[in-house]
Amino acid sequence: MDVYLDYQSSKPVDPRVIEAMQPYFYTTFGNPSSLHSSGDKATRVLDQCRHTLADFIHAQPDEIIFTSGATESNNLSLIGYAMRNKNKGNHILISEIEHISIHNIAKYLEKNGFTVTKIPVDQYGRVGLRKIEERITEKTILISIGYANNEIGTVQPIAEIGKLCKGKGIAFHTDAVAAEGLLPLDVEKDNIDLLTLSSNDIYGPKGVGVLYGAKGFRMTPIIIGGGQENGLRSGTENIPGIVGMAKAAEIIQKEMAEEVKRFQGYRDRLIENILKTIPRSHLNGHPTERLPNNAHFRFDGIEGESLLLSLKDKGIAASTGSACSSKTLEPSHTLIALGLLHEEAHGSLEFTCGRFNRDNDIDAVLKALPEVVERLRKLSPLYK
Ligand code: PMP
Repeated sequence: MDVYLDYQSSKPVDPRVIEAMQPYFYTTFGNPSSLHSSGDKATRVLDQCRHTLADFIHAQPDEIIFTSGATESNNLSLIGYAMRNKNKGNHILISEIEHISIHNIAKYLEKNGFTVTKIPVDQYGRVGLRKIEERITEKTILISIGYANNEIGTVQPIAEIGKLCKGKGIAFHTDAVAAEGLLPLDVEKDNIDLLTLSSNDIYGPKGVGVLYGAKGFRMTPIIIGGGQENGLRSGTENIPGIVGMAKAAEIIQKEMAEEVKRFQGYRDRLIENILKTIPRSHLNGHPTERLPNNAHFRFDGIEGESLLLSLKDKGIAASTGSACSSKTLEPSHTLIALGLLHEEAHGSLEFTCGRFNRDNDIDAVLKALPEVVERLRKLSPLYK
């Protein structure tokens, strides 16, 4: 089995989650829209799950909309909110380092009469409040800034952005996928109006997600049909998946504090040792305002892709950035937004740890990586 340090791209489903889902495939398989007792059972469990997920982010159960995942939640929040509120204005702000789904939704909205402004970030990937404020116009209706970045792990000043949006009467959406299960989420305290969650990012099954939509923040549905989820997301509810996501949230709420401490230990060992033992290695992202499980580096003179393949040969799974954009040859838009040159962005490597890592996984990386970097540099015409 590989040493798996790519938890940002995909997580295994926790066996306790699989066990909780099991009865909902065969024994309790009813459709919540049916009026018989099997349907009633499904309605009851759906209700419980809604309460659990509301609790997870300090929301109310009727503010939870179940979706097929983070991409759909991002689509519903941005497109749904923009379309429903276009009479108020047609300007939207996002940051330059949003996930590709947000960037592509923004392009779609631009083709449909909206103007999107991208807020630049500093060299560590932080969005400054002044930079947001300077770009707000009287037509701005929505600001979407990811809670934390899925590549470099930089965490944004979410409470301050929430306060700013509230003061200006602008809706605030945050994609919290990279942060969920690693940082406590509180939509009420942080004045978040719309928030995206994904089940797999808390060790639940893929294909399930949530959009939290605060009461009063109305949206136009993007999936039309039987009117489920208060008319905002039609289609028969994925009960086993939703049960899995709720169980995953319940587990992580209990275990997060202990788990995060463990991840921080792994992350800090990786960062300290790699920067010390490998010459001309650099940390990407913020030195302190970063996710507890993220260590993202660049190494002068070599390509992240060659590093990744050499580590793969040694049974270590890492990443060069977002799996969602790994099929393009373009350097990561996030790394370019930090001000890195193309060759620097191409020399990057990301480790993200998770629930099933142990100390010896970190030992394996610290043993293998210096040798691999040295060997590749000897072969590299770029390394002087
Ligand atoms: N947002 C972020 C920050 C992500 O990292 C991802 C990918 N895990 C997504 C959205 C899209 O998630 P999905 O592919 O599950 O819809």
